[in-house]
Amino acid sequence: MTGVAFLGLGAIGEPMAARVAARFSLAVWNRTGARATALAARVGARAAATPREAAQGAAVIITCLPTSAEVEALLDGPDGLLAGLVPGSLLVDCTSGDPATSRRLAGRLEPLGVGFVDAPVSGGTNGAEAGTLTVMVGGDPQLFDRAAPVLSAFGSRIVRMGPVGSGHAMKAVNNALLAVNILAVGEGLAALVKAGVPAHTALNVLNASSGRSFVSETLVPERVLTGAFPRTFKLTLLQKDAGIAAGLLRDTQVSGPMIELAFRLYGEARARLGEDADYLEAIKVIERQAGVEIRG
Ligand code: NDP
Repeated sequence: MTGVAFLGLGAIGEPMAARVAARFSLAVWNRTGARATALAARVGARAAATPREAAQGAAVIITCLPTSAEVEALLDGPDGLLAGLVPGSLLVDCTSGDPATSRRLAGRLEPLGVGFVDAPVSGGTNGAEAGTLTVMVGGDPQLFDRAAPVLSAFGSRIVRMGPVGSGHAMKAVNNALLAVNILAVGEGLAALVKAGVPAHTALNVLNASSGRSFVSETLVPERVLTGAFPRTFKLTLLQKDAGIAAGLLRDTQVSGPMIELAFRLYGEARARLGEDADYLEAIKVIERQAGVEIRG
């Protein structure tokens, strides 16, 4: 049993799976089957018709779905993952999921002799294509050691964070900080443009000063100033991450008004922009309210 299965070929899952196929014998499954068939033909993988079929014969099964709820729903039923998983296999969830569901999943799989680690990623679709993702793993050290060779197909920094759920906790906090920063950078730049400072001049100075960040150094120049706003990561997914982080703060009894506010503002942006909007389009909401565009 040496094969790998990859379930969930979305914006980030597909390039991750393509890299796994270059190193391992791979079975792929996707809800919309045409995406699995197309990827399988392109990278020399096997397209499975059901999650059960994908899992059969696989030592490592990777999931990358929108939330933990979709991962858990994949387990059950005659064609579900549980029907295909065998003792000794390992489920690696690369979804940006929630810690509590992961702990429950691990608890369900353990009596079956199936391991579980949460292993969400950061680095975007470009990082997935280049194999330079950061992977944040929650789970037993022995399971981490078994997952790492497969994760290294798409990750260049693979870190064990702690027990099951801690990878998801880390990822949620990271993305909540991203959400806070996008909103703050958007607000500040909108005000500067209205005050008569050209956007590119404001960014040049900001990026040589102490307020700079990945958002100001990379995302805004490439995606906002150009007006390109490519759709690589859904706004709905970033809002979900901020919500998981807000829940973590509540669970750990840490007062978290900044992250709560980012979650709420991202919820408002979602209501205005729709389910397909990209995460950086939250800046468009700020621009519309301000009556100005951050371009140039
Ligand atoms: P997408 O929305 O592009 O893709 C979602 C995937 O999940 C698709 O394969 C979709 O299938 C599948 N899916 C959706 N609902 C269900 C369901 N009910 N049952 C089975 N499959 C389902 O998401 P991404 O690929 O962007 O994100 C996946 C995960 O990775 C998320 O948790 C996200 O937060 C995280 N992530 C994303 C990054 C990015 O840059 N995009 C970066 C880092 C993490 P179908 O094709 O049929 O719609």
